Amino acid sequence: MDSVSFPYDAPVSQTLFDRASLVTPGGVNSPVRAFRAVGGTPRFMVSGSGPYLKDADGREYVDLVCSWGPMILGHAHPEVTAAVQEAVARGTSFGTPGEGEVALAEEIVARVLPVEQVRLVSSGTEATMSAIRLARGFTGRAKVIKFAGCYHGHVDALLAAAGSGVATFGLPDTPGVTGAQAGDTIVLPYNDPDSVRAAFRAHPGEIACVITEASPGNMGVVPPLPGFNQELKDVCAENGALYISDEVMTGFRTSKAGWYGVDGVAPDLMTFGKVMGGGFPAAAFGGRADVMGHLAPAGPVYQAGTLSGNPVATAAGLAQLRLLDDAAYARVDAAATAVRGLVTDALTKEGVAHRLQSASTMFSVFFTDGEVRDYEDAKRQEAFRFNAFFHSMLSQGVYLPPSAFESWFVSAAHDDAAVERIAAALPAAARAAAEATA
Ligand code: PLP
Repeated sequence: MDSVSFPYDAPVSQTLFDRASLVTPGGVNSPVRAFRAVGGTPRFMVSGSGPYLKDADGREYVDLVCSWGPMILGHAHPEVTAAVQEAVARGTSFGTPGEGEVALAEEIVARVLPVEQVRLVSSGTEATMSAIRLARGFTGRAKVIKFAGCYHGHVDALLAAAGSGVATFGLPDTPGVTGAQAGDTIVLPYNDPDSVRAAFRAHPGEIACVITEASPGNMGVVPPLPGFNQELKDVCAENGALYISDEVMTGFRTSKAGWYGVDGVAPDLMTFGKVMGGGFPAAAFGGRADVMGHLAPAGPVYQAGTLSGNPVATAAGLAQLRLLDDAAYARVDAAATAVRGLVTDALTKEGVAHRLQSASTMFSVFFTDGEVRDYEDAKRQEAFRFNAFFHSMLSQGVYLPPSAFESWFVSAAHDDAAVERIAAALPAAARAAAEATA
């Protein structure tokens, strides 16, 4: 990071960040937003339109973060905006059941075959936390297997060796999670079925579930090796444990039916967020009806939420999902293909060792030349090159995730004009990556 220069060209953002830092820890409400890994001033955004964001200093960026996944149709899509405005005008929260919740649940059930029943919540964290509780309640067992580098939100039991911000900051664990809370979590290397089988042999009758990102995006993009998810499902079934696929990031992004639509491996439980909320706090978990039937009030496992199924959030999510037809996914795919090709060409031209990995339309660049199959591989990359690359792109009006350990996201609104702006910025950014020193 020392070799990276970041021109002090965001005075309004800097002033806002200074104000924020007085009243909010680290100046942000979610750690990676603070730019700590890459350095410099976090940009405070004031508006978004299609593939573009505008910051408080009046600069426009092509957005390759898309709010970390949700904005798959681009910002301020007119039909999503209209649905939200209509819902807001009818009232913002009733604390009763409403038709929007039913329609959103029906849409999810219709798209994702293994989901027979679904419960709406407000964040991906809540979804995975609730799915784990349900798995424990259903099986009467305590232990949970997760994989190093996978992030499932900031659930106490799931923060061990997590990806995303925990990877960005190189945190081994986090203070505040007690031994008791993490003691039933078994952390294994990703893409290593033998270690999963060994864990089941070591803890017979004790493991409630295996939770995995359907295709991980929180240590950068590290897709499952062929057969890995099927192996997880099989070993769970053989041992009376549940297979939980976390589709918070991949859900309704990697296909109409998320990663399930790609690999066809049917989980017992699944979790969703991001795209299904249309930019609002809506998330869900669902799966086998006999398992979901254990949730209160149908069953004994308690789970609840004042704003669960919020009418504005469900209207936004439903509008977005209904717009996500084959043509929309084809546009996302075309944008992802174009950007991936341009990035590889630019880095290759400058002789920068890199590995571009993708999972459907999710992708990221590792500054390393070997295949990245797990978190240990991901950590071997030369992140200082990413930081130089990031700042060059930022100064040229392209907003990348401010971390080498995150997926990049495009939307159906990333048209030729947006892709051309990215293309124009890449040669200088690739040069900056080539010249960077640790
Ligand atoms: N699961 C996965 C795979 C995620 O990528 C995330 C967030 O990035 C979460 C869970 C947590 O979701 P949220 O940030 O909405 O709590």
